Amino acid sequence: MRKKIVAGNWKMNNDLEASISLTKKIIKSVKKKQLSKVKVIIAPPFVNLERVAKKARKSKIQVAAQNMHFEKSGAFTGEVSAEMLKGVNVKTVILGHSERREYFGETDEILAKKVDAALENKMKVIFCFGEVLEERKAEKHFDVVKSQIEKALFHLEPKQWKKIVLAYEPVWAIGTGETASPEQAQEIHKFVRGFIAEKYGEEVAENVSILYGGSVKPANAEAIFSQEDVDGGLIGGAALNAKDFKAIIDAI
Ligand code: PEP
Repeated sequence: MRKKIVAGNWKMNNDLEASISLTKKIIKSVKKKQLSKVKVIIAPPFVNLERVAKKARKSKIQVAAQNMHFEKSGAFTGEVSAEMLKGVNVKTVILGHSERREYFGETDEILAKKVDAALENKMKVIFCFGEVLEERKAEKHFDVVKSQIEKALFHLEPKQWKKIVLAYEPVWAIGTGETASPEQAQEIHKFVRGFIAEKYGEEVAENVSILYGGSVKPANAEAIFSQEDVDGGLIGGAALNAKDFKAIIDAI
């Protein structure tokens, strides 16, 4: 059975003090019993990862990086490798977030290399994909998400999919307050599971968790999470508030 997951992407928010404080609040509010049913992941900025990972170590809350480079080391100013993340006990990485694609020019080809580097280091990947507004208006959203996933992930062996979590994030719904309707989310999630099944078979497709991301809030989380092919959420803004994040976890 596939896992239910709620992951909080803090983006470029929270200095060290705020990161530790939010981590403590989340650890305190999320009950251990709850964590056996839903995997909770938090993704602070790079500089705070080590301290947050240490703070979270005894809880079952997991810590993820928001990005990484595909090379092991070298002259890549400002970058961080999978080896470095592992060295501070970070075993999950978000890749392909639309902000990385839009502001930092990350292509599906680059992302394929990042995915490989993460998997070589036995890390888990939360792979983000999703269309922009113009693509949805032009009814190209199915083609766009299929192509993003094919280019970045379809070179993987079936067994490598155990380390992959997908996150459908329609770009027009990220940080805009506009959410995809539960039906729109379900439509894409089902479509994605369908073409993964065509390529890899039912077992791989049924076991991959597909999260929804895009203005998920306590008020809309339950309706979205109740969709058959929605296995949780990747949360931006609402993950910065412990009470809201907890309410979203409760909604699962
Ligand atoms: C995100 O950036 O992954 C995200 C879903 O942001 P928000 O929840 O703020 O729309």
